[in-house]
Amino acid sequence: MPLSASVLIDGPSELVFDYAIPENLKVLPGCRVRIPLRNRPATGTVLRIADKPAGDFALRFLTDLVDPEPLVTAPLLKLAEWITAYYGTPLEQVIRSIIPSSIRGEKNSAKTRRAATLIKAPSEEELATLAKRAKRQHQIITLLSLTDQAIPLTELGGPSAAPSLKALATKGWVKLLDLEVRRDPDAHETFVPTEPLTLNHEQAECLKVVQASLNLPSTSPQPNPNHPVTNHQSPILLHGITGSGKTEVYLQATKAALDLGKQVIVLVPEIALAPQTVQRFKARFHDLVDQIAVLHSNLSQGERFDEWHRIRAGKARIVIGARSAIFAPVKNPGLIIVDEEHEPAYKQENPPKYHARDLAVVRCHLEKCSVLLGSATPSLETYRNTQLGKYQLVKLTERADGASLPLTRVVDMRIEAKKQKGRDAIISDILRTSIEKRLEANEQVIVFLNRRGFARSLQCPPCGHVIECKHCAIPLTYHRSEERLICHICGHQAVVPRTCPNCHDPAIRQQGYGTEKAEIILRKIFPSAKIARLDTDTTRRKNTLRDTLRDFRAKKINILLGTQMIAKGLDFPNVTLVGVLNADLSLYAPDFRAGERTFQLLTQVAGRAGRGDLAGEVIIQTSTPHSPSIQFARHHDFEGFLAQELEMREQFGYPPFTHLALLLARSSHERRAEFTLQTLHRKLAEQLPEGVILGDPIPSPLTKSHSQFRFQLLLRGPNPRALSQHLNKILRATPTPEDVIVTADLDAYDLG
Ligand code: ADP
Ligand code: ZN
Repeated sequence: MPLSASVLIDGPSELVFDYAIPENLKVLPGCRVRIPLRNRPATGTVLRIADKPAGDFALRFLTDLVDPEPLVTAPLLKLAEWITAYYGTPLEQVIRSIIPSSIRGEKNSAKTRRAATLIKAPSEEELATLAKRAKRQHQIITLLSLTDQAIPLTELGGPSAAPSLKALATKGWVKLLDLEVRRDPDAHETFVPTEPLTLNHEQAECLKVVQASLNLPSTSPQPNPNHPVTNHQSPILLHGITGSGKTEVYLQATKAALDLGKQVIVLVPEIALAPQTVQRFKARFHDLVDQIAVLHSNLSQGERFDEWHRIRAGKARIVIGARSAIFAPVKNPGLIIVDEEHEPAYKQENPPKYHARDLAVVRCHLEKCSVLLGSATPSLETYRNTQLGKYQLVKLTERADGASLPLTRVVDMRIEAKKQKGRDAIISDILRTSIEKRLEANEQVIVFLNRRGFARSLQCPPCGHVIECKHCAIPLTYHRSEERLICHICGHQAVVPRTCPNCHDPAIRQQGYGTEKAEIILRKIFPSAKIARLDTDTTRRKNTLRDTLRDFRAKKINILLGTQMIAKGLDFPNVTLVGVLNADLSLYAPDFRAGERTFQLLTQVAGRAGRGDLAGEVIIQTSTPHSPSIQFARHHDFEGFLAQELEMREQFGYPPFTHLALLLARSSHERRAEFTLQTLHRKLAEQLPEGVILGDPIPSPLTKSHSQFRFQLLLRGPNPRALSQHLNKILRATPTPEDVIVTADLDAYDLG
């Protein structure tokens, strides 16, 4: 009896059907196949081969293989299975992420153009005859004999040259062929070549560790679990302060991997925010610029098709991309670099809800290659792994160009609010004077305000008091529609106080401000300064971000105001002042990671100041100047921050000491969404695995979105697999109403 294959059908419906495999075909998972679908032929991608013969005699046979080779490599299919098991996402959804539809479908193909090449040179005599009798043919053959490469028809005279070429081909001198042309997304850009810098001592040490890992034979022994000494193949965390020259280490590590004949994947949080990283790779590997592929969401279908196939064919040896580039079909990866590994952007928020940094580690394990995670502010998850001896740790503690870290001042906005009575205290006097000074000196200023989101915590402007959950040590969130305060971890609810419980001021109910209002105020205070604003509202138009950053670099802008978009990665030597308008915004988000994010954001944004020869200054405005995240960031004290944050996480049972799963039910029928989640909650509680903590169902912070009501609950436990298995078992066994959508998110970052 024949084996059967599950096939993901091409086309918008993306159905999955089983087909019997004819005996003469060698069908593997990941292969493209032709199949009969109803009464017409269709194509699809094989998801898996059933290990038992097909019992179903009515099963139709698949017709043929489109291409004998599977679309993706065997380790990538293993990675797909790992994702399915870990996150509980169906395999077809995972494959859809790994192989984009533009690759699976037949709509796209390589772009070609007709070209001609010389295969045999005519003799002197023959040439002389041509010169006399057929001038056009003589012209063409002269051109073609100048190079051993094919020349496109368009450059040989276009369609009118066709008869002459045909004649030349008949004589056996010239061959006509289809030349593949690459749709290059960066074709219009030029790069000034750079040479490797001489590494400083710390950088050289980092590179050595990476090289040791690269040179390790792939059959190295596994580390002894009872004796957790790092083994060379274990992931490497490069913890380097802002401006310490991490990128230079990435570049030289990349070179080292290429020299071993391997390929390299470089992940950046968002390509749009990392134009400098891409530029630096292209400039350094200028002689290999054709071997660099860039993958991101702004590619056209044709560009994506070409980049993907260039990678698969081994033509591209360096792949730079956002999170989905972790699925780049490179055959022989030697090194995967994850820049800014702490960035939440690595977490995919649609199913499969994978974390690209975690997948990098898994893929490296599957492919026996090296992984380098870099950050100035590593995530607690990653840092903890270095403490446990699972990851190696290397450090860069000084700025590479000899600059010193900026001086940071913290301004207490409670005092400002009193001083500036009757006005919006948005810009403190200290910040205002400091901006004035920079403007006079023709230096540049970055003003940062992280105002986004809807639900927020309540903070009293006069006293800075924030209302927190008594069970969870996170701020309660104000739900405007219900006029209640709700804890987003345990579901605890409280009434909205009329006055501040601490100082009894009614101002606690006051709403905040965002970048738009800040822009108006900055323009009022500094009427002659050139001010630009960058946030999701202003960058909807395609090139705004790139153009604004270019103008800023060219010093056509004095003050750049923006959200976290401008917080990281940018290297502008003329920026000497960074102002943070309301550091409390991220600090009092209803999220146990709020302190970590605030510390990261402040450190990153401060890292934009004083990167050149001029000393930098940072001014942080806050109503809670003594909060640990702000104080540790002010003193550039990562270790101090880490110690106190880990203590809090351990005490309350948060990651990295546990794993989290967020279960969300949404529907346009409020009651049905709520009821579904309550049912699931009851069932989850019945056989709760050991050590798992189950939170109560609550309305999501984002109570309603896209006309759907949202309810959620949180599970926490030490073992992610056990958590995921329990959750998915209950989900599979519990029928949900048709109009309720239930999703699970393991290792959730976005807590609703
Ligand atoms: P990071 O990625 O850690 O923020 P960068 O790689 O951007 O740091 O380096 C900061 C600056 O220091 C850059 O201008 C870079 O060219 C320079 N730099 C890096 N390494 C060296 C070195 N070994 N010698 C001199 N300058 C260096
Ligand atoms: Zn709580």
